[in-house]
Amino acid sequence: MAMRQMHVGIDDTDSVRGMCTTFLAYSVAAGLLGMGARFLEYPRLVRLNPNVPWKTRGNGAVALRFMAKDTGRVRQYVTDMVRAHADTANGANPGAVFWEGDNVPPTLRRFAREALHRIVRIGDARNLVEEAGGSLFGMGTGRGIVGAAAAIGYEFGDSTAELISYRRDSCFGTPRKIEPDSVRIMQEATYPDTFNSYDDATGHVLIAPRGPDPVFYGLRGESALAVRRASRMVSHSERLRGHMIFRTNQGTGDHLAFRIDPDTMEPHSSGVLEGAVVGGPQIVEGGHLFFDVAAGRSVSRCWAYKPTGLPFKLKGLACGDHVTVGGGVRAGSAAFSKSLNVEIVRVQRLAPLVSYCNPRCERCGKNMKSQGRGQGFRCVRCGRTAENRRGVRVPRAISEGEHCALVGAHRHLSRPPQRRGRLNHVSFEPDIEWLSMYDGK
Ligand code: ATP
Repeated sequence: MAMRQMHVGIDDTDSVRGMCTTFLAYSVAAGLLGMGARFLEYPRLVRLNPNVPWKTRGNGAVALRFMAKDTGRVRQYVTDMVRAHADTANGANPGAVFWEGDNVPPTLRRFAREALHRIVRIGDARNLVEEAGGSLFGMGTGRGIVGAAAAIGYEFGDSTAELISYRRDSCFGTPRKIEPDSVRIMQEATYPDTFNSYDDATGHVLIAPRGPDPVFYGLRGESALAVRRASRMVSHSERLRGHMIFRTNQGTGDHLAFRIDPDTMEPHSSGVLEGAVVGGPQIVEGGHLFFDVAAGRSVSRCWAYKPTGLPFKLKGLACGDHVTVGGGVRAGSAAFSKSLNVEIVRVQRLAPLVSYCNPRCERCGKNMKSQGRGQGFRCVRCGRTAENRRGVRVPRAISEGEHCALVGAHRHLSRPPQRRGRLNHVSFEPDIEWLSMYDGK
């Protein structure tokens, strides 16, 4: 039997109570290798629109691309694995998508781009997959089909790697004990090839999640080799189950490569809004800040929340500044109107701020005195007069350029400042230990 290229997408197998779609992908990939599959790419971990309200955590979906002989057997195996391990009892709505062939159809690619920045429909995902000659499997609402299809269709421009290590069942739900200093030293030693591992400002370790899921830690970096090397530098006392390296769109900022239409402000969409500041900035109770941006025929309210550290950075904005604001549209409610949750602000042009004061006497260098309303100014020493007040340029408390959230408040897709301008390709090196099961478990 000849080998055929196969794409398998999986999503929505977890709940806040347990499981993780990447862990299922790890188990499935190990099983596929055992069945003789030959991988063509690291497993994909594709983060989709971060503003989807029903996501469990980081809206991640996975896809595997490999050569296999018996594709029917593969489909059955994956379906059985999803059925057996998805946390449907706690609200997961899993979906799996299968597509065979060398070039993913453009319809699936376009669908993935939509899913990266808007809300898309399950029905559209089903139709697309079926029209493209693929097949699918879903449980519950089958909502996971959306992410599963998008993870297959996603076209990486820039990409990064993540090594995720997994815990043994007996450790699920227990605290993760990682030596913070080892993470700090690892980050320093591997900079700029890894990112967002340790928050120097707060001393927090950023690689470990807090929930009951099987992930021990996830190390993000520019290449599989970089994250493999970094993982050897992290000290901990837990015996782990194994690890897998993913190719991801994390840290690429790709969800902000779209323009938000200011006149419609589509709820839950992600992207950028470009315009002039016409109101605020104002800090409100709780330390959050808002400012208003005029773009199109509308004025949109933009909110920067305190934990992002952005209120402190943006409080120097002023009316007339030209800005590009990246973020997600928060739907309106009875209490709040639609607004943009700010992730990043690029100040394109600062407006000249001028304050007016009494003119200075050209001869004596002293400030002149006002003669009364509309009657000009006079130097008390030499008697010289002047008609108008003097404009003085006020120094600005914010600079042109990018102002982004603190590292601890970054979303998976947020582009860290150290990756500015970077375009990376995580090419597949099958010989490095991209999937490892530590004692065969
Ligand atoms: P984790 O990161 O732990 O895997 P998660 O945050 O990815 O969890 P899921 O449980 O996968 O959350 O739930 C996200 C759900 O939203 C999935 O069913 C996915 O198919 C769906 N989804 C993803 N992107 C979109 C989108 N743009 N429009 C509509 N639905 C989406």
